[in-house]
Amino acid sequence: MHNDWCPGCGDFGILNAVQMALAEMNVDPSSTVVVSGVGCSSKAPHFIKTYGVHTLHGRTLPFATGIKLANPNLEVVAEGGDGDGMGIGAGHFVNSGRRNVDMLYIVHDNEVYGLTKGQAAPTMKLGMKTKSLPLPNINQGINPIMLALASGYTFIARGYSYDVRHLKDLIIKGIRHKGFAFLDVLQPCPTYNDIQTKEYWAGEGNLDANGHQQPRTYKLEETGYDGVVHGGAADEVQEKFQQAVLKSFEFGDHTPIGVIYQNEFIPTYEERLVGRAPTYLSNPPASQEISKPDGTPLANIDKLLEELRVT
Ligand code: SF4
Repeated sequence: MHNDWCPGCGDFGILNAVQMALAEMNVDPSSTVVVSGVGCSSKAPHFIKTYGVHTLHGRTLPFATGIKLANPNLEVVAEGGDGDGMGIGAGHFVNSGRRNVDMLYIVHDNEVYGLTKGQAAPTMKLGMKTKSLPLPNINQGINPIMLALASGYTFIARGYSYDVRHLKDLIIKGIRHKGFAFLDVLQPCPTYNDIQTKEYWAGEGNLDANGHQQPRTYKLEETGYDGVVHGGAADEVQEKFQQAVLKSFEFGDHTPIGVIYQNEFIPTYEERLVGRAPTYLSNPPASQEISKPDGTPLANIDKLLEELRVT
């Protein structure tokens, strides 16, 4: 399919990383669904050879959640922009953290609404003025890492779209994670965001004491940072959570990429459902017959309506 992303758009790096991750994991394309909302990045499912659903603005997560819960055997990856996910979709973002459905959500974070000509998106910092804005941004920016922590996400990571191999590894970790994985990706939009460009993240203007250019991203794993909860004890969880909160404040000249927090000791939504419906995983909704071979519904609608009748 024709791709009309602008030349140099960070979306290309994320697309490559997703394709590389799915290929390396040897996933079955017929058992994989990529779900998106609306925005430049939400065109991604059109370019990935799996099932794909390009849904409504801000509704990426409800669709993806429904698909996964109807058929928990599917690999579900949700993908979209920061405007889609942190603006109109913010309520869904918060409540998805509470549920902990076993899937991955990748946010292309470029701080602008690229598809509609560069308005300030929810992650843009207060006072920032890109070339697409007549005046500096009047609102504070959402901190997506902090919001994910506060919402209960059990895997929280940040990647950079032009570090494709590192991003690919994060995508694989996110897919393998047991629970809801959130991956915030720094994604230059060279057309409308002339501040956080590829050159900016490479270190343009960020010089050390010797006048050497310093990249503005650094890899957490190269500093000895370990965001993974290994034992599940309350004091360990608290310690890992607190260090993740501190990392969430690092942005700009010294921005961490890598796994910030991971806790697989929280039950997934699917596990909680099994507690109520023991046959859920062996006989999920998508496997249940809803009609006879001639198309006659199996459900007795009259009986259902009778049960719902208000007298
Ligand atoms: Fe990418 Fe920005 Fe162009 Fe959209 S407007 S395709 S985000 S460079």
